[in-house]
Amino acid sequence: MKVHNFNAGPSVLPNEVLYKASKALIDFEGTGMSILEIGHRTEPFVAVMEEARSLVRELMQLDDDFEVLFLHGGATTQFMQVPMNLLENGETAAYIDTGVWSNKAIKEAKQFGYVEVSASSKDTNYNHIPKQFTVPQQAKYLHITTNNTIYGTQWQATPETDVPLIADMSSDILSRQMDFNRYALIYAGVQKNMGAAGATMVAVRKSMLGKVTRKIPSILDYRLHIENGSMLNTPPVFAVYISMLTLRWLKGQGGVAAIEKVNNKKAALLYDEIDHNPLFRGNVAKEDRSKMNVTFTIDKPELEEEFVKFCKKEDIVGIKGHRLSGGFRASLYNALPLESVEVMVEAMKFFSLKKA
Ligand code: PLP
Repeated sequence: MKVHNFNAGPSVLPNEVLYKASKALIDFEGTGMSILEIGHRTEPFVAVMEEARSLVRELMQLDDDFEVLFLHGGATTQFMQVPMNLLENGETAAYIDTGVWSNKAIKEAKQFGYVEVSASSKDTNYNHIPKQFTVPQQAKYLHITTNNTIYGTQWQATPETDVPLIADMSSDILSRQMDFNRYALIYAGVQKNMGAAGATMVAVRKSMLGKVTRKIPSILDYRLHIENGSMLNTPPVFAVYISMLTLRWLKGQGGVAAIEKVNNKKAALLYDEIDHNPLFRGNVAKEDRSKMNVTFTIDKPELEEEFVKFCKKEDIVGIKGHRLSGGFRASLYNALPLESVEVMVEAMKFFSLKKA
């Protein structure tokens, strides 16, 4: 039996994907081999990789300058790989600090060039997205984290800037319509909205590459990955396969526009309960609330553990907040059904009445 899985990542996947994947673990598309046993350069797997890349392109409506890659190393590797490929020694890159993940990206970028932190919401424990910032004219790029998984804040619109824009979209990739073509590079660990842990999706504009003079180790050079069809070395075969199935599922749901409608409903339902239930309280500025990671606290902290246990009995799991922001966090990724949010809201109502 499946539970209502609100985990922040790895997280819930569509049932359809899990069924297909479990079948492929035994016999991948009639090859007589498991997906785990098949050579990555064989025709059936190359087709998986190509379909995954082309579905990303299609679902994000990327223009021809973009190349899509599935790499190893998580979004964390991108914190370093982005500046290594794009930022020359002595040049400046601008970053907006909206939490732990932006901070990690900033720390890595400092190894390659000068980093200007154009704005930060650190003073208020990252409970909002900074609205005012100035990006130095000479900046090679501006880096943002579109959704802050830990704190529950999200950029509601793509910031206006004259410099190339780079985004870590690990926790809201393909959850809402955006003009992805306004970006120069987008990266995301796929384990939240796009599949299982083990692969990182990078969409990069070819026109951004080849401009730094430093020597880039082959495995970290985007150009070599592009030249090799995202198969410079053995790719994370199973993770790419799960991504391909998840992308197919998303397309079958009607794509990003359709899933956005469901995501809006789920978030509205939960935030409405948080705003009207006297026992719970939202943590972040209302205008910056994330539709993917809903953070909230309980007004009587002594009831926190009891609420988690109560939820567990109702088959609701993964709602404990990150240790840095405390309270609760309910992640509402694409594959989480609306029904799970309805069950969660009922549990909040019932618990609150019981404790009144
Ligand atoms: N960026 C964001 C926004 C995240 O939420 C996470 C992980 O939760 C990461 C980066 C790190 O990703 P990975 O564990 O794939 O390196």
